[in-house]
Amino acid sequence: MYDKLLTTIDGRRDDLVALTAELIRFPTVNPPGEAYRPCAEYIAERLKKRSFGIEFIRAEGTPGDTDRYPRVNVVARFDGRGPGKTVHFNSHIDVVEAGSGWTVDPFAGLVRDGRVYGRGACDMKGGLAASIIAAEAFMDVYPDFSGAIEISGTVDEESGGFGGVAYLAGKGYFSKPRVDHVIIPEPLNKDRICLGHRGVWWAEIETRGEIAHGSMPFLGDCAVRHMGAVLEAFEQDLFPALDRKQTKMPVVPEGARRSTMNINSIHGGQTEDFKPGLPSPNVPDSCRLTIDRRFLLEEKLDEVKGEVTSILDRLKRERPKFDYSIRDVMEVQPTMTEKDAPVVTAVAQGIREIFDREPEYVISPGTYDQKHVARIGHIYDCIAYGPGILDLAHRPDEWVGIEDMVQSAKVMAIGLDILLRGGRGR
Ligand SMILES: [Zn+2]
Repeated sequence: MYDKLLTTIDGRRDDLVALTAELIRFPTVNPPGEAYRPCAEYIAERLKKRSFGIEFIRAEGTPGDTDRYPRVNVVARFDGRGPGKTVHFNSHIDVVEAGSGWTVDPFAGLVRDGRVYGRGACDMKGGLAASIIAAEAFMDVYPDFSGAIEISGTVDEESGGFGGVAYLAGKGYFSKPRVDHVIIPEPLNKDRICLGHRGVWWAEIETRGEIAHGSMPFLGDCAVRHMGAVLEAFEQDLFPALDRKQTKMPVVPEGARRSTMNINSIHGGQTEDFKPGLPSPNVPDSCRLTIDRRFLLEEKLDEVKGEVTSILDRLKRERPKFDYSIRDVMEVQPTMTEKDAPVVTAVAQGIREIFDREPEYVISPGTYDQKHVARIGHIYDCIAYGPGILDLAHRPDEWVGIEDMVQSAKVMAIGLDILLRGGRGR
């Protein structure tokens, strides 16, 4: 029933590969936010030729935005013949640093053995390219469709999305009536639908002491030893309790199907970055610890915080001179789109058509831009679906499979047909 659509996409395999390689050649490394503008302009140039209306939105004043590294986003929109729903494909164009261990040039867009290699190949320029090919093929095969298609290339996802989707959502780009359905082509594997992600609470805990000469520590009060007591209490009470909290959310990998906490950093006393002869011998009067707590749909944020502060308060009662402060650094609510939401059922049907099996429904252990779409834009019909193998993201020799991109472009195109034409095919 979708023969014409699928053969059209098959015929554009070379175009899809070339587009992916071109996107990889923009070294959109974040931080600092390199080459955002030329990459956004490249996407705009392509879609302009297909009669998309183009907007460039610079997120002025957001973290990292400078004239040298402007946070430039692009939003492209094509309105069909009549009124209807709008499907929005959102991809982040930023990538993480290449790092070491590469055997190929990370920004050459090398094509070899059915794969395209490069930083961002799977996370997520391959997904962006697949969504563009899907939209173009759909528009060519069904030129009379009603509704609208939007494609955005947004920045700073890797650093929280504040200059990207969060900024645009604040300006109404991810809200009704403008947008109804959102697909984020993150690399969650071609036959899986990602419904959402766990929540995040980052906090900085500081213990305080009293400075004194290091040769007479009994005259002062060591903030680092106080923090040691905090860590010990976490080991005894908190980590085992978190481990026992299971979730109904289908998080992958399975190890993340429970509450987790990472100790992100610890610092006490003077800087370690000293020249010979430094630093002077002091009892540290401050120690700071950053925690990264990932929580579940079944947990409430104030309870999550309460678990930590109750341990700190207990130490305050039991441990002489113990004092602390705690500061929230980041809060993200967990989000999970319902399995019967329109965008989920549409993409699920696409997966059945292409792979002849049921999709797997998953939840991401970490967050991505869906949080802003839900929390700021109030669009809950949002998923991540795209080609690429999640485990390859951020690794050396990152790649995306060409056949995977072709197949997921087909799934996206069928999704468009279901959402915009009622799944008529033909
Ligand atoms: Zn990503």
